[in-house]
Amino acid sequence: MTFKNLNIIDPILKALEQEKYVTPTPIQQQAIPLILKGSDVMGCAQTGTGKTAAFAIPILQRLANTPEKQPNAIRTLILTPTRELAIQISDNFTSYGTHMKLKHTFIFGGVSQFHQIKTLKKGTDILIATPGRLLDLMQQREVDLSHLEIFVLDEADRMLDMGFVHDVKKVVASLPQNRQTLFFSATMPDTIKKLAEKILKNPAYVSVDPVSSTAQSITQSVYFVEKNDKEKLLATILDEEGISRSLVFTRTKHGANKLVDKLTKKGITAAAIHGNKSQNARQKALEDFKLNSLRVLVATDIASRGIDIDELPHVVNYDLPNIPETYVHRIGRTGRGGKKGTAVTFCSTEEKSDLKNIEKLIGVRLTVSTV
Ligand code: AMP
Repeated sequence: MTFKNLNIIDPILKALEQEKYVTPTPIQQQAIPLILKGSDVMGCAQTGTGKTAAFAIPILQRLANTPEKQPNAIRTLILTPTRELAIQISDNFTSYGTHMKLKHTFIFGGVSQFHQIKTLKKGTDILIATPGRLLDLMQQREVDLSHLEIFVLDEADRMLDMGFVHDVKKVVASLPQNRQTLFFSATMPDTIKKLAEKILKNPAYVSVDPVSSTAQSITQSVYFVEKNDKEKLLATILDEEGISRSLVFTRTKHGANKLVDKLTKKGITAAAIHGNKSQNARQKALEDFKLNSLRVLVATDIASRGIDIDELPHVVNYDLPNIPETYVHRIGRTGRGGKKGTAVTFCSTEEKSDLKNIEKLIGVRLTVSTV
């Protein structure tokens, strides 16, 4: 199976070749033909499965193949929960659409709206937005969605987790009825199914991997270690296993800051990203990490959602998440696109019940490691 078999048009094929994509991933194989023919789609896929390209590629193709009804109108809206995700989706559109004339831009909160409005005024075909800022700009009449053709709700489960449900409903209520809707979520709890039933029309269902499964390419193990010894264990693992870059998850913002201080004192370059950090600080930490000038990026769950770093081989669950699905999201940062990854979990006595719940969800007992 190739992208050509999926009837992808030449300018996109050329871009995919430059990206070195050879074979469509399973979610792409399933979703692309459905989206191209105009169906509503409900997709169940976790990050790392190629989900973004699964909607971005056919959207570019549909927009290129149908003439615009209104010059400069927004034709596609992608709603996503975090700024980091908005930027990443935008980067994907830049890559896949590099040989096309379609314009895209993103808007999100936490930064001045001035430049966002300026860009919007120039006209955009594809708008990638977080819900709060979108509603703000809609109320200010800076965003007009009345000519929308395609609506994508990305990471719907996280959107609800983050308390965006009312915002999402408000946005949906303002969209034209006659549109194509694509809905993606890593997990499908009942609340998500109900929301989907309301906004999708006769959707086709696509799903890759059972919701709870973790990618086969990830080696998972657990160290039983008490809270106060975790930092020493982390330094030991990084050194002994010669790990040049690791994404480390803590449960709290405070815990993330504390760990960064301790690692820095040990001479390990580290920075934290979490909700209390400014947008600029988060972007800078992410860039430094991508450029290899940081060895450890410490993240909390919400800030980390959607982080897409090519070749990220190592993830550490410094604290165990108390929601088992979060474990699946976290370790989905590694082993992307079939590459090999390692996920290490530090479990203290108090966290053993969390570990049990995770193992129950993923149906795997983690291998116990010792140093
Ligand atoms: P996503 O699930 O959208 O976060 O994508 C995960 C990663 O897989 C990203 O780094 C994409 O660039 C990459 N990717 C997506 N589709 C393909 C493909 N068909 N072949 C190789 N890599 C891909």
